[in-house]
Amino acid sequence: SHKSSAQIRQEFLDFFKEKNHLIVPSAPVVPQNDPTLLFTNAGMNQFKPIFLDEQSGYEKEGETWQRAVDSQRCIRVSGKHNDLEEVGYDTYHHTLFEMLGNWSFGDYFKREAIRWGWELLVDEWGLDPDRLYATVFEGDEDDGLPVDQESIELWEEETSIDPDHILKFDKKDNFWEMGETGPCGPCSEVHVDIRPDEERKEIDGAELVNMDDPRVMEIWNLVFIQFNRQPDGSLEKLPAQHVDTGMGFERICAVLQGKKSNYDTDLFAPLLNKIGELADVTYGDKEEIDIAMRVIADHIRAVSFSIADGVSPGNEGRGFVVRRILRRAIRYGWDKLDLKNPFFFKLVPTLAEQFKEVFPVLINQQDYVQNVIQSEEKSFLNTLGQGIELFNEMAEGKDEISGEDAFKLHDTYGFPIDLTQLMARERGVEVDVEGFNKRMKEQKERARAAGNFNVDQSSSKDWIAVTDTDDFEFVGYDSLSAWGNIK
Ligand code: ATP
Ligand code: MG
Ligand code: MG
Ligand code: MG
Repeated sequence: SHKSSAQIRQEFLDFFKEKNHLIVPSAPVVPQNDPTLLFTNAGMNQFKPIFLDEQSGYEKEGETWQRAVDSQRCIRVSGKHNDLEEVGYDTYHHTLFEMLGNWSFGDYFKREAIRWGWELLVDEWGLDPDRLYATVFEGDEDDGLPVDQESIELWEEETSIDPDHILKFDKKDNFWEMGETGPCGPCSEVHVDIRPDEERKEIDGAELVNMDDPRVMEIWNLVFIQFNRQPDGSLEKLPAQHVDTGMGFERICAVLQGKKSNYDTDLFAPLLNKIGELADVTYGDKEEIDIAMRVIADHIRAVSFSIADGVSPGNEGRGFVVRRILRRAIRYGWDKLDLKNPFFFKLVPTLAEQFKEVFPVLINQQDYVQNVIQSEEKSFLNTLGQGIELFNEMAEGKDEISGEDAFKLHDTYGFPIDLTQLMARERGVEVDVEGFNKRMKEQKERARAAGNFNVDQSSSKDWIAVTDTDDFEFVGYDSLSAWGNIK
């Protein structure tokens, strides 16, 4: 008799509402008026103007609030936060996930954030304190910041945590930054050890828990926003101190529902069932099939909400990110689940139904979203089978796919480079990405010289990281069908 995910989400919102937080709606996954970000990657994005002191709080109907709470849909496939490679292989990183968050805009600070976080997890939700760990920022010389002693003391004063479970980590884990620039600060995170009791043994204490074990899962990040990272890398102190927290909703659902994997929660069950039905397979029988099913269940969420929030698959910028995710899912279907006809769009109604209360934006545009996905599937299926055959020939007996071959797969068969890399990884083969980039560049120059194309605007920092290449710009294609709906 575990709680449903809907109940868990509601309890989070209500807990903070009782502490005078305003429940605010999720922003779209496409940032509004923020060209520095490709996709919303954290709950705090929509409040950026408040953190930067451009607004004094959250405004609603003439009132200004200093406290807010919500569940934000986030996408992490680009820039500083890119989890695409993890998805499907582990069971707790998604392309699209919900981030539960509570905020203080220049109001309460570390003490209340820590106290209330613990109160919700332990007193309300009944998590076992022995399984909880808190991490704090150890400081950083380059940034001239000392260890966050204050947070260590607050964890000791405000909670019943075992002092041995308070661990110090460096900037990589305990200093949160939205992107290359912008609001940031030290953070303190909560991790839950979900290993079975036999494996936890009797030994306890800091050195003995391996924080890299995926079963010691990070669930909640409490960020203390105090700085604004400047383009030159320096930190500027913000006029006010803010709290920005983010809890992985799918992860806390897994923990509270007693599951080892996010995919075993009621959030993913309907999608996995539907995929099983379409492919005539059962989740849990075979790892290779399971990975494909997880990827597909994950990717339909990112693709559907992106389209519903206004980004259609295309050859540039955000649209190309969506197309890449989509083609990745279709390839998994074809190659691993023997789904040779459009199938991905058939998952949309299941998802829309599931989210009709929380994020109605999808059910309101269900037909449109389905049509966009279906036509994208049709176009990629024209070349996918042949492309896979060709890839297999190219990889046969080699340790590396050449830049020229990768370019051919891209140019003629519509294989984004990350898809070729993924397929190569599955076979233990490398890809000459540099050689590929060189050819992409040459093509771009040819196009420029021909004067036919507008070079896209997608070379932002985030975009470069998306593609994992140095210089990667799409210029459009003049001939083929492989890339679909070209204008
Ligand atoms: P991780 O170390 O697991 O990648 P993170 O440190 O990158 O997480 P934060 O930026 O601190 O994540 O985001 C706040 C919370 O959002 C995390 O504590 C985690 O619970 C959740 N989260 C982050 N990335 C993902 C993801 N890709 N899928 C699902 N939940 C996520
Ligand atoms: Mg991460
Ligand atoms: Mg982390
Ligand atoms: Mg974190």
